[in-house]
Amino acid sequence: MKLDVLAIGAHRDDIELSCGGTIIKLVDEGYEVGVLDLTQGEAGTRGTAKERAREAKNAAKCMGITLRKNLYLPDAGVNNTEAAQHKIIHILRKYQPDMVIIPYWEGRHPDHYKTSILSYESCFFSGLSKLKIGGLAHRPSKIVYYMAFQETHPSFIIDITEQFQKKMEAIKCYKSQFSDSEDGKNIFMPANDIFELLEARARVYGAIIGKKYGEAFLAKQPLEIEDMMTIKGKFI
Ligand SMILES: [Zn+2]
Repeated sequence: MKLDVLAIGAHRDDIELSCGGTIIKLVDEGYEVGVLDLTQGEAGTRGTAKERAREAKNAAKCMGITLRKNLYLPDAGVNNTEAAQHKIIHILRKYQPDMVIIPYWEGRHPDHYKTSILSYESCFFSGLSKLKIGGLAHRPSKIVYYMAFQETHPSFIIDITEQFQKKMEAIKCYKSQFSDSEDGKNIFMPANDIFELLEARARVYGAIIGKKYGEAFLAKQPLEIEDMMTIKGKFI
């Protein structure tokens, strides 16, 4: 089975929180989309690996994605090692995605920025035919970076107005993370505040392109646009 898009996250729920609306939109448009979670989220203050596995499965169903895989790398211990690269390369070669969506290269949580560099290097090495670790060499042609709470100027914004409600439903599948439990009460904001914050962020990115809700992305590589007049934008 070939995927059009593979989104990679360190933890179960990273994809839903940062680019879930875009994933749902791609599915709505008929693309085959997969999500690869690197860890089981077992080091999180709230919930267990088992609970989060169930929640991730429900969220996958909600988003309508083709495939969701987990690499079982250690949570709070993601590292850019050859062994971890080979695990990702195995997935890239098996599913041959044209586009890979990975975390922004800086961040507060080390797992996030380490996932970024690990994924980038895996995409590169996956294209080397002399790397004999099984499977046909494959290098995705486009790598884009999703943003969490970075104050960085995005390269482009996807309008997720139609998908926003479903994105929130997918996030709410993670009941262990987004309900007001006693665990970590002094660290985490109340769930409703988190939902409001996510909505506010989506509203800001939406407003930049003259839409209600948006999700922001960065690209390091210059991207080709075939017809310049198809670029959308709002001069605000
Ligand atoms: Zn995370």
